Amino acid sequence: MPDEKQASANSADHRFAWRCASGSDVGRVRASNEDAFWADDAAGLFVVADGMGGHAAGEVASALAVECAARGVDCLEGDPSVEDARQCLTKAILEANERILSEGRTHPEHTGMGTTATMLFLSSRGWYVIGHVGDSRAYLARDDEVYRLTVDHTYVQELVNQGRLTDEQARIHPRSSLLTRALGTQDTVPVDLYEGELRAGDRFLVTSDGLTTMLSEAQIGSLLLQRRPLDDLVAALVDAANDAGGTDNTTAIVVDVEEAPAA
Ligand code: CA
Repeated sequence: MPDEKQASANSADHRFAWRCASGSDVGRVRASNEDAFWADDAAGLFVVADGMGGHAAGEVASALAVECAARGVDCLEGDPSVEDARQCLTKAILEANERILSEGRTHPEHTGMGTTATMLFLSSRGWYVIGHVGDSRAYLARDDEVYRLTVDHTYVQELVNQGRLTDEQARIHPRSSLLTRALGTQDTVPVDLYEGELRAGDRFLVTSDGLTTMLSEAQIGSLLLQRRPLDDLVAALVDAANDAGGTDNTTAIVVDVEEAPAA
């Protein structure tokens, strides 16, 4: 993690802007893409959801998570405070949880579906907030270092926390994708929130586990630190996951932050 913990420390004189690119690919093995994503430059909201469940239910669950995030944009309008943003992201994720549960109840063929949700919000005032459930991830590349900002809700992450697996052993573990927390599986779900300052030159990645199980942290890091057009970078990330096997769907949103010109 970068060394600052609190958002909102940036001077009011500094305004930030960003550019993004995004893409999603079914991969080399699966018949369908159960990932969904939403990148709203104007709102500063970037969302990845990775669905699971038979009979196309995973696609339904991830689409519902993205839909709830999109509707949550209203909540984030008008220069919200950090606390507002935390509440808006939590609300969007809890609404998605309820929608998925209710969809499962009314459509028995979709029972048991679930999804991850990782939602990154950027404020032009110079801070970010992330709302997160599951094993999609957010990364930050800053000053030639790459930080993983989110902690997975997986069985193997628990073993990492206990010191029984390294990150790399967890990545290639046969049960690496077994989730301990997801939307649509329980009446309510704890939402992890992360926040921090923005700096000019920051690059964020929000991605599904199709990328992070195929590529090591070092491989992801070296790609993220490359200076190249953002569309190219997203394509390179997806291609690298597919070249490494492409056993899952891969989704990547990359966002570059810059200082906005003075008004
Ligand atoms: Ca996946």
